[in-house]
Amino acid sequence: MASKRLATTATAALLSTLGTIGTVACAASSGESAPAAGSTVSSTVNSTVNSTVSGPSASPMSSSAADTRARPGAPGIGDSDFPTDGNGGYDVDHYLLKLGYTPSAKHLAGTARIEARATQHLASFNLDLSGFTVSRVTVDGRPARFDRAGSELTVTPAESIPNDATFAVDVTYAGEPKPVRNSSNLGTYGFIPTQDGAFVTGQPNGAKTWFPSNDHPADKARYDFELTVPAGLTALANGELVGEPKTAGGRTTFRWRESHPMASYLATMTLGRFEVLQGKTPGGLKNLAAVDPIFRGSLRRLYDVSGKVTDYWSTLFGPYPFSSTGGVVDDFPAGYALENQTKPMYGGFAPDEDIIAHELAHQWFGDSLSIKRWKDLWLNEGFATYAEWLWSEHEGRATTEQLFRRHYAAAAGDPIWSYAPGRARPEDLFNNSVYTRGGMTLHALRQRIGDPAFFKLLKQWVATHKYGSVTTPEFIAMAEKISGKNLEALFDAWLFTAEKPSTW
Ligand SMILES: [Zn+2]
Repeated sequence: MASKRLATTATAALLSTLGTIGTVACAASSGESAPAAGSTVSSTVNSTVNSTVSGPSASPMSSSAADTRARPGAPGIGDSDFPTDGNGGYDVDHYLLKLGYTPSAKHLAGTARIEARATQHLASFNLDLSGFTVSRVTVDGRPARFDRAGSELTVTPAESIPNDATFAVDVTYAGEPKPVRNSSNLGTYGFIPTQDGAFVTGQPNGAKTWFPSNDHPADKARYDFELTVPAGLTALANGELVGEPKTAGGRTTFRWRESHPMASYLATMTLGRFEVLQGKTPGGLKNLAAVDPIFRGSLRRLYDVSGKVTDYWSTLFGPYPFSSTGGVVDDFPAGYALENQTKPMYGGFAPDEDIIAHELAHQWFGDSLSIKRWKDLWLNEGFATYAEWLWSEHEGRATTEQLFRRHYAAAAGDPIWSYAPGRARPEDLFNNSVYTRGGMTLHALRQRIGDPAFFKLLKQWVATHKYGSVTTPEFIAMAEKISGKNLEALFDAWLFTAEKPSTW
């Protein structure tokens, strides 16, 4: 995962001395997870249903042992740095988002169907949704009671849901999407209305600004999208188109399907006027590039570079995990890019090769393998940054060793050494250290264990955890197993110590 923002003054100054690219870090948010804009509380009770819901004792399951009694699902998924992100008590398998958007009115309306499996006996459960008016919620087709508080949407089904049961929730809602604005170091993210449509990038917790979800990467799911927009506009989402777009009554519906598990922050419905180039990479993978007309001069290059990078990473990291690749350049001046699954989004700039290499490396590191908790973000950003260095070397520019040495030359008092990248901080999640020192950590590891073990490790890491969730201790354990070396001191110095490492 990860978005990239244009360099801050500090990082730009550092980079100019290093002679590297001018775009560096994925954007960040504050630790706050409940935007003030979504703080309205509207409680809607369906009286006919309410009368049938009388708490745990109403459950047919409650006659068994006490710990099987229906309880509310937790309002957070358990990431202590982001306590209200995601939710407990269920695991989503699939989202069907049938949404229409009208740019002139900034109006989003539709229904989200969430198909999930209970992981406890549920009296009620939460979804994450910020803003909008919710008009109706059903569970397995029956009206359910629902309540709003901040960005928590609490759903109380007419009957409790037994542990391990599957269920389908339909949420009908409408309103003006409000992105998360001016977070501490991420800027603006979520569903961002633009002149001709919307730019939609959700890292770390912006899915809730456009659909009700379990908004944390620890719960991945498959997605279907049915997106309806004024005729003449293009709606882009993850995965591949299902059938041809259909136009009726001046509006066009685009159906997209991402059939591989995906974290909620990687979902997109970026829409507007786009010029599109479709085909296949030289290696035979579907490739789609789309650019806002003001970036039409970069369309061909985006398409070609995305194709050749994807093919090269497939040789280095293992088979591409999804069914298509590509990229989208929109005119919203986000100043960052996000590795939206199958379609990285570039916000307001034509990306250079290094950024494309970074975002497409994330398709393996971040998208196929997702972090279970945000503090392990270096597993995404350190790897994607190191991929930029690998690409530079592959293209005959600076080598990984040269780039490592340039960064390692930073003085002992440089801020990169006082932030330990193995423990990303919620208030400064996307710190440059998570990226650059994270990438240096991988190079230090490579020096220590040698190229054969290092590249075997990358492939095995990717293959073992394909479509799954990962943590830093799991990576360290695999590195030690493959290399046969005790690497505790190396990882302690590089990931967990707030000073400049002296050994590797
Ligand atoms: Zn990134």
